[in-house]
Amino acid sequence: MPQRAATIVGGGIGGLAAAIALHRRGWRVEVLERATEFTELGAGISLWPNALHALEVLGLAGSVRALGAVEATGGVRDRRGRWLSRTDNAELARRFGHPLVVLHRADLLRTLTEALPAGSLRSGSEVSAVREDRRCLVVDHRRGESRPDLVVGADGLRSAVRRALWPDAAGPRYAGYTAWRMVTEPLAEPPSEGAATWGRGARLGYTA
Ligand SMILES: Cc1cc2nc3c(=O)[nH]c(=O)nc-3n(C[C@H](O)[C@H](O)[C@H](O)COP(=O)(O)OP(=O)(O)OC[C@H]3O[C@@H](n4cnc5c(N)ncnc54)[C@H](O)[C@@H]3O)c2cc1C
Repeated sequence: MPQRAATIVGGGIGGLAAAIALHRRGWRVEVLERATEFTELGAGISLWPNALHALEVLGLAGSVRALGAVEATGGVRDRRGRWLSRTDNAELARRFGHPLVVLHRADLLRTLTEALPAGSLRSGSEVSAVREDRRCLVVDHRRGESRPDLVVGADGLRSAVRRALWPDAAGPRYAGYTAWRMVTEPLAEPPSEGAATWGRGARLGYTA
Protein backbone atom coordinates (compact mmCIF):
# COMPACT_ATOMS: atom_id res chain seq x y z
CA MET A 1 0.00 0.00 0.00
CA PRO A 2 1.48 3.42 -0.91
CA GLN A 3 2.39 5.63 2.03
CA ARG A 4 -0.41 8.03 2.76
CA ALA A 5 0.32 11.72 3.22
CA ALA A 6 -1.10 14.10 5.79
CA THR A 7 -0.78 17.87 5.94
CA ILE A 8 -1.17 19.32 9.41
CA VAL A 9 -1.92 23.02 9.47
CA GLY A 10 -0.50 24.62 12.62
CA GLY A 11 2.57 23.62 14.59
CA GLY A 12 1.28 24.17 18.13
CA ILE A 13 0.83 21.44 20.72
CA GLY A 14 -2.24 20.04 18.94
CA GLY A 15 -0.78 19.97 15.44
CA LEU A 16 2.54 18.47 16.51
CA ALA A 17 0.85 15.79 18.61
CA ALA A 18 -1.39 14.85 15.68
CA ALA A 19 1.63 14.76 13.36
CA ILE A 20 3.57 12.46 15.73
CA ALA A 21 0.61 10.09 16.03
CA LEU A 22 0.20 9.87 12.26
CA HIS A 23 3.95 9.51 11.71
CA ARG A 24 4.06 6.63 14.17
CA ARG A 25 1.27 4.94 12.20
CA GLY A 26 3.32 5.14 8.99
CA TRP A 27 1.94 8.31 7.45
CA ARG A 28 4.17 10.79 5.66
CA VAL A 29 3.50 14.06 7.46
CA GLU A 30 4.20 17.71 6.91
CA VAL A 31 3.41 20.39 9.48
CA LEU A 32 2.77 23.82 7.97
CA GLU A 33 3.42 26.56 10.51
CA ARG A 34 2.82 30.25 9.91
CA ALA A 35 5.58 31.43 12.28
CA THR A 36 9.17 31.52 11.14
CA GLU A 37 10.17 28.88 13.68
CA PHE A 38 8.62 26.12 15.72
CA THR A 39 8.72 27.48 19.21
CA GLU A 40 6.47 28.67 21.99
CA LEU A 41 6.92 32.01 23.63
CA GLY A 42 4.42 31.82 26.44
CA ALA A 43 5.42 30.59 29.83
CA GLY A 44 4.62 27.46 31.75
CA ILE A 45 1.99 24.84 31.16
CA SER A 46 0.36 22.42 33.58
CA LEU A 47 -0.11 19.00 32.10
CA TRP A 48 -2.92 17.07 33.74
CA PRO A 49 -3.05 13.25 33.78
CA ASN A 50 -5.12 13.08 30.58
CA ALA A 51 -2.39 15.00 28.71
CA LEU A 52 0.26 12.62 30.05
CA HIS A 53 -1.83 9.66 28.93
CA ALA A 54 -1.90 11.14 25.43
CA LEU A 55 1.87 11.71 25.55
CA GLU A 56 2.31 8.12 26.69
CA VAL A 57 0.54 6.92 23.55
CA LEU A 58 3.03 9.04 21.58
CA GLY A 59 5.94 7.50 23.53
CA LEU A 60 6.86 10.86 25.07
CA ALA A 61 5.44 10.85 28.61
CA GLY A 62 8.80 9.87 30.16
CA SER A 63 10.80 12.60 28.46
CA VAL A 64 8.20 15.26 29.22
CA ARG A 65 8.05 14.24 32.88
CA ALA A 66 11.83 14.40 33.09
CA LEU A 67 11.75 18.03 31.89
CA GLY A 68 8.99 19.10 34.24
CA ALA A 69 8.34 19.46 37.94
CA VAL A 70 5.84 17.58 40.05
CA GLU A 71 4.56 19.73 42.86
CA ALA A 72 3.18 17.93 45.91
CA THR A 73 0.08 20.10 46.22
CA GLY A 74 -1.66 23.02 44.58
CA GLY A 75 -5.04 24.63 44.58
CA VAL A 76 -7.27 27.64 44.26
CA ARG A 77 -7.54 30.47 46.81
CA ASP A 78 -10.06 33.26 47.19
CA ARG A 79 -8.99 36.90 47.19
CA ARG A 80 -8.23 36.77 50.91
CA GLY A 81 -5.91 33.82 50.44
CA ARG A 82 -8.28 31.21 51.86
CA TRP A 83 -8.23 27.86 50.10
CA LEU A 84 -11.26 27.10 47.95
CA SER A 85 -9.90 23.76 46.76
CA ARG A 86 -6.71 21.76 47.10
CA THR A 87 -5.15 19.18 44.83
CA ASP A 88 -3.05 16.38 46.25
CA ASN A 89 -0.75 15.35 43.42
CA ALA A 90 0.03 11.90 44.83
CA GLU A 91 -3.69 11.18 45.02
CA LEU A 92 -4.11 12.44 41.46
CA ALA A 93 -1.42 10.02 40.30
CA ARG A 94 -2.94 7.16 42.28
CA ARG A 95 -6.40 7.71 40.80
CA PHE A 96 -5.52 8.68 37.25
CA GLY A 97 -2.13 7.09 36.59
CA HIS A 98 -0.11 10.31 36.31
CA PRO A 99 0.49 13.38 38.49
CA LEU A 100 0.11 16.98 37.35
CA VAL A 101 3.39 18.01 35.72
CA VAL A 102 4.42 21.62 35.12
CA LEU A 103 7.02 22.66 32.59
CA HIS A 104 8.01 25.44 30.25
CA ARG A 105 6.02 25.46 27.04
CA ALA A 106 9.16 25.79 24.94
CA ASP A 107 10.49 22.53 26.44
CA LEU A 108 7.25 20.74 25.56
CA LEU A 109 7.31 22.10 22.01
CA ARG A 110 10.95 21.07 21.58
CA THR A 111 10.17 17.52 22.74
CA LEU A 112 7.33 17.31 20.24
CA THR A 113 9.29 18.71 17.31
CA GLU A 114 12.24 16.40 18.03
CA ALA A 115 9.90 13.41 17.70
CA LEU A 116 9.28 14.27 14.04
CA PRO A 117 11.55 13.94 11.00
CA ALA A 118 13.19 17.36 10.52
CA GLY A 119 12.01 17.56 6.91
CA SER A 120 8.39 17.37 7.98
CA LEU A 121 8.49 20.69 9.83
CA ARG A 122 7.81 23.58 7.49
CA SER A 123 7.88 26.97 9.17
CA GLY A 124 7.04 30.23 7.37
CA SER A 125 4.25 28.35 5.58
CA GLU A 126 1.07 30.23 6.33
CA VAL A 127 -1.95 28.45 4.89
CA SER A 128 -4.37 30.67 3.01
CA ALA A 129 -6.89 28.13 1.70
CA VAL A 130 -7.97 24.51 1.71
CA ARG A 131 -9.96 23.47 -1.34
CA GLU A 132 -10.98 20.56 -3.47
CA ASP A 133 -9.68 20.14 -7.00
CA ARG A 134 -11.05 17.19 -9.01
CA ARG A 135 -11.74 15.23 -5.82
CA CYS A 136 -8.26 15.99 -4.45
CA LEU A 137 -7.60 18.07 -1.34
CA VAL A 138 -5.39 21.07 -2.01
CA VAL A 139 -3.75 23.18 0.69
CA ASP A 140 -2.50 26.57 -0.52
CA HIS A 141 0.32 28.02 1.54
CA ARG A 142 3.12 30.56 1.34
CA ARG A 143 5.57 28.07 -0.11
CA GLY A 144 3.25 26.62 -2.72
CA GLU A 145 0.57 23.97 -2.49
CA SER A 146 0.23 20.48 -1.02
CA ARG A 147 -2.05 17.68 -2.16
CA PRO A 148 -2.32 15.29 0.78
CA ASP A 149 -4.74 12.46 1.49
CA LEU A 150 -5.65 14.06 4.79
CA VAL A 151 -5.69 17.60 6.13
CA VAL A 152 -5.67 18.26 9.87
CA GLY A 153 -6.69 21.76 10.87
CA ALA A 154 -4.77 22.58 14.05
CA ASP A 155 -4.32 26.26 13.39
CA GLY A 156 -5.80 27.58 16.57
CA LEU A 157 -8.65 29.87 17.50
CA ARG A 158 -8.96 31.79 14.23
CA SER A 159 -8.41 28.71 12.09
CA ALA A 160 -8.03 29.35 8.37
CA VAL A 161 -8.88 25.69 7.73
CA ARG A 162 -12.18 26.00 9.56
CA ARG A 163 -12.93 29.24 7.70
CA ALA A 164 -12.20 27.56 4.35
CA LEU A 165 -14.30 24.47 5.02
CA TRP A 166 -17.06 25.92 7.20
CA PRO A 167 -17.28 29.61 6.28
CA ASP A 168 -20.46 30.03 8.30
CA ALA A 169 -19.11 28.49 11.52
CA ALA A 170 -19.07 30.93 14.40
CA GLY A 171 -15.58 32.15 15.29
CA PRO A 172 -14.27 32.84 18.78
CA ARG A 173 -16.08 35.42 20.90
CA TYR A 174 -14.06 37.66 23.22
CA ALA A 175 -15.03 36.78 26.78
CA GLY A 176 -13.38 39.76 28.43
CA TYR A 177 -10.19 38.06 29.56
CA THR A 178 -6.69 39.29 28.89
CA ALA A 179 -3.82 37.08 30.01
CA TRP A 180 -0.26 38.12 30.82
CA ARG A 181 2.18 35.27 31.09
CA MET A 182 5.78 35.47 32.23
CA VAL A 183 8.77 33.55 33.51
CA THR A 184 10.77 35.05 36.39
CA GLU A 185 14.44 34.73 37.17
CA PRO A 186 15.02 31.89 39.67
CA LEU A 187 13.71 33.08 43.04
CA ALA A 188 15.78 32.87 46.23
CA GLU A 189 12.75 31.41 48.00
CA PRO A 190 10.46 29.88 45.41
CA PRO A 191 6.93 28.94 46.49
CA SER A 192 6.68 25.30 47.44
CA GLU A 193 3.51 24.76 45.42
CA GLY A 194 1.60 26.21 42.52
CA ALA A 195 -1.71 27.95 43.09
CA ALA A 196 -4.30 30.22 41.56
CA THR A 197 -5.98 33.08 43.35
CA TRP A 198 -9.37 34.18 42.16
CA GLY A 199 -10.15 37.80 42.87
CA ARG A 200 -12.90 40.09 41.66
CA GLY A 201 -12.48 40.34 37.90
CA ALA A 202 -8.88 39.11 38.02
CA ARG A 203 -7.02 35.89 38.61
CA LEU A 204 -3.39 35.20 39.36
CA GLY A 205 -1.75 31.84 38.90
CA TYR A 206 1.82 30.76 39.50
CA THR A 207 3.80 27.59 39.53
CA ALA A 208 7.27 27.01 40.88
C1 LIG B 1 -3.21 31.88 29.46
C2 LIG B 1 -3.41 30.44 29.07
C3 LIG B 1 -2.97 29.44 29.92
C4 LIG B 1 -3.16 28.09 29.56
N1 LIG B 1 -2.71 27.13 30.41
C5 LIG B 1 -2.88 25.83 30.10
C6 LIG B 1 -2.39 24.81 30.97
O1 LIG B 1 -1.80 25.09 32.02
N2 LIG B 1 -2.60 23.51 30.62
C7 LIG B 1 -3.24 23.17 29.46
O2 LIG B 1 -3.40 21.97 29.19
N3 LIG B 1 -3.70 24.12 28.61
C8 LIG B 1 -3.54 25.44 28.90
N4 LIG B 1 -4.00 26.40 28.06
C9 LIG B 1 -4.64 25.98 26.80
C10 LIG B 1 -3.58 25.55 25.79
O3 LIG B 1 -2.52 26.50 25.77
C11 LIG B 1 -4.20 25.44 24.41
O4 LIG B 1 -5.33 24.59 24.47
C12 LIG B 1 -3.22 24.89 23.41
O5 LIG B 1 -2.06 25.66 23.33
C13 LIG B 1 -3.88 24.83 22.04
O6 LIG B 1 -2.94 24.26 21.16
P1 LIG B 1 -3.24 24.21 19.62
O7 LIG B 1 -2.06 23.52 18.99
O8 LIG B 1 -4.60 23.64 19.37
O9 LIG B 1 -3.34 25.72 19.13
P2 LIG B 1 -2.26 26.88 19.15
O10 LIG B 1 -1.32 26.77 20.28
O11 LIG B 1 -3.05 28.15 18.99
O12 LIG B 1 -1.42 26.60 17.83
C14 LIG B 1 -1.88 26.94 16.57
C15 LIG B 1 -0.68 27.08 15.67
O13 LIG B 1 -1.14 27.28 14.33
C16 LIG B 1 -0.39 28.32 13.74
N5 LIG B 1 -1.24 28.91 12.70
C17 LIG B 1 -2.31 29.71 12.86
N6 LIG B 1 -2.85 30.03 11.67
C18 LIG B 1 -2.09 29.41 10.73
C19 LIG B 1 -2.16 29.35 9.30
N7 LIG B 1 -3.11 29.98 8.60
N8 LIG B 1 -1.23 28.62 8.65
C20 LIG B 1 -0.24 27.95 9.34
N9 LIG B 1 -0.14 27.99 10.69
C21 LIG B 1 -1.06 28.70 11.37
C22 LIG B 1 -0.05 29.28 14.89
O14 LIG B 1 1.08 30.08 14.59
C23 LIG B 1 0.20 28.28 16.02
O15 LIG B 1 1.57 27.86 16.07
C24 LIG B 1 -3.82 27.75 28.36
C25 LIG B 1 -4.24 28.76 27.49
C26 LIG B 1 -4.04 30.09 27.84
C27 LIG B 1 -4.50 31.18 26.89
